[in-house]
Amino acid sequence: MAKKQNLYKEYGIATQAVHTGTGYDEETGAVRRPLHMANSYKLPDDLSKVNYSSTDLLMYSRNGNPNQHWLEEKIAALHDADDAIVLASGVAALHALFWTLLKSGDRVIYPKVSYMAVYRLFHELFNKKFGVETVMVDMTDIDAVKKAITKGTRLVHIETPDNPTNGVTDIEEVVKIAHENGALVSVDNTFASPYNQKPLSYGADFVVESLTKFINGHGDAQGGAIISNALETMDRIRYEAQVNVGSVISPFNAWQIFRGSVSFPLRMKRINDSALQIATWLEQRENVTFVSYPGLESNKGHNLAKRQMKNGFGGVISFGVRADDKAVERLCANLKVVTFAVSLGHDESLIFPQPSYDERINLYPEKFRNGFIRFSVGLEEPEDIIADLDQAFRSIGL
Ligand SMILES: *Cc1c(COP(=O)(O)O)cnc(C)c1O
Repeated sequence: MAKKQNLYKEYGIATQAVHTGTGYDEETGAVRRPLHMANSYKLPDDLSKVNYSSTDLLMYSRNGNPNQHWLEEKIAALHDADDAIVLASGVAALHALFWTLLKSGDRVIYPKVSYMAVYRLFHELFNKKFGVETVMVDMTDIDAVKKAITKGTRLVHIETPDNPTNGVTDIEEVVKIAHENGALVSVDNTFASPYNQKPLSYGADFVVESLTKFINGHGDAQGGAIISNALETMDRIRYEAQVNVGSVISPFNAWQIFRGSVSFPLRMKRINDSALQIATWLEQRENVTFVSYPGLESNKGHNLAKRQMKNGFGGVISFGVRADDKAVERLCANLKVVTFAVSLGHDESLIFPQPSYDERINLYPEKFRNGFIRFSVGLEEPEDIIADLDQAFRSIGL
């Protein structure tokens, strides 16, 4: 596909979020583009030139649909990128990238702390099913990355800040080490979002975003994106993973995420501010054992995050309380403003405990192994969130 146009390139991110990919409906003059749920599109009279695995011609909705394409324009613009592919979920995007780039005998380096599906794909599936050599590394330790890299490494995948511990990895340093050894770099940017961090500007080759989180931001549609300037590889991903594996996004979800993304910069600004305020409060609260939030000066990754994250530190706070698994569950269940549910980046604040019996608990730094909670800050008044946390702490005697 051709490079995506960004007619608003010289404007700020909020203007781009409102205007890129938006347009008049040519048939009616409506100021919103319509939702096209059609599966098929009228074929040209001469079929001899039609390539049924192509994504250039609108032909069948798995090969691409207009709502997907308009959202792709916007996501590429948010990352100052030449191209974006929008797929059914963040995990579909991660899988599409790995599936297209890797083959048997390749070596991939992936983070010790990462989104669960990355762990499953590399710890259990790509290695055992396809003979890919998968090496787990603590990416927050640059010396460990240097030690793990070899000339034959195909891909270094990182996640920063990481889910669920909020560890910060130096994108520029990893890119330098990887490129010196002929490896590509992909960055899962879901926690930071493009409002705060644009990994392509530090030399990364691919970015993955779960659109389900901050970019849609309303907890009502699932989607994922791969963002890159490598146009040829992006077309291979479309062909190999979208058309032939079927990970395309539904037009309805693309339409919904398109609408949610309009207010994304505004929401993210608010979320950055509230999260810093809540993290600062938590750090001073008795019976809180640690607070991992890159915006706090006390955090190990703070100076790096200050350099790498331009507008703020995101909306997820990882913290610990002096309580066992059962008490932590009660704390979460006793919240009234905050919702006890998985996911993050919604309009409502979300809380999710990471119990000490979690199968990956020993991969996390020591202090995260007891009373660990992941908290996603929403759009409510920060004072109301703080008061709610305080009453829930008290309800279990903290
Ligand atoms: C949620 C999440 C994903 C997966 O996104 P889905 O849309 O749920 O498939 C990937 N990476 C990170 C860091 C996430 O938080």
